[in-house]
Amino acid sequence: MINKKKLDDLSPYKTETTKCKVRLSSNELPFEFPTEIIYEALRQVDETKIRLYPDPEAKRLKEAIADFIGVPEENILLGNGSDELIYYISLVIGEKGVFIPVPTFPMYLISTKVAGRKPFEVYLDPHFDIDVERTKSVLGEVDLAFFSYPNNPTGNLFSKEKINFIREKGIFIAVDEAYYNYAGDTFINEALKREDTVVLRTLSKIGMSGLRVGVLIGVKEIIREIEKIRLPFNISAVSQVIATYLLCRAKDYIKCMVDKVIEERERLEKEMSRIKGVEVFKSKANFILFRTPFPADVVHKELIKEDVLVRDVSYMPLLERCLRVSVGKPEDNDFFLEKLRIVLERL
Ligand code: PMP
Repeated sequence: MINKKKLDDLSPYKTETTKCKVRLSSNELPFEFPTEIIYEALRQVDETKIRLYPDPEAKRLKEAIADFIGVPEENILLGNGSDELIYYISLVIGEKGVFIPVPTFPMYLISTKVAGRKPFEVYLDPHFDIDVERTKSVLGEVDLAFFSYPNNPTGNLFSKEKINFIREKGIFIAVDEAYYNYAGDTFINEALKREDTVVLRTLSKIGMSGLRVGVLIGVKEIIREIEKIRLPFNISAVSQVIATYLLCRAKDYIKCMVDKVIEERERLEKEMSRIKGVEVFKSKANFILFRTPFPADVVHKELIKEDVLVRDVSYMPLLERCLRVSVGKPEDNDFFLEKLRIVLERL
């Protein structure tokens, strides 16, 4: 029998699948890799024996990632996307409640519940930073905290001092740096030294969402423990080959495309804040949170009619009338800006 008691409090992870000419809803890198690089990656896939199980340790990929990030291989554990690693953390780190600042990435709450633990969702302050006063009241109940750094969907970095304050209370911190490449600030040095800190990274936001590769960085002792629950063969042979090749061959290209997105983010922020009625929240990621005077579901629907897909995040606490737009290619950003102006004038 299905354990209804366990599942009644959950619902499937929601994502945007509506077809639109310009899709700016999933925070992917908007640029393709050059064709010759893709062809070479596919040639290597052709040589891969998919009849066989993949390397369970994903050794070559781990080497490539260690080199790309600049950390020793022994401090890395790979997941099928960082989503899988968020599950692992919820399952084995601590046993009390879990501290989740909200609004944030929904997987922290889902995995906390799946692990049978009690979530302590604490609202952020008006600047979307950690609210220390509210936080103090739950610290005795929790022994694990998730921080999206920068935070999805608000786009800001929480204050490092406030995160450290929470850790000083004996709480293990999982710092999710999915958008690190767009922000540049990191807890990696702590994660390499301390037993109460891990960092998560992903290849999803730098051009490889389809490959599903997430990275957990921590001290050897933690990696060794989490290894015990890692599903065998969690990174497919095809993902291993392609990601290894792209990280080695296209490192400079990735850096260049990330810089381009950062440049576009600054432009988009400026242009959006010039539109009457639009409130723009400064972002350190590859997306921008904004508020309009109208209900977000209406703006969302009207934008779809204009062939633009963004994310309606107004269902989250503190985000009334808010939407999130991913930074796209210059021409897609222009298309979005034009349609946003049209829609807001019409409403
Ligand atoms: N963490 C954050 C903060 C995210 O926004 C996302 C994706 N939207 C993820 C993790 C999941 O990344 P992955 O594709 O590696 O599972």
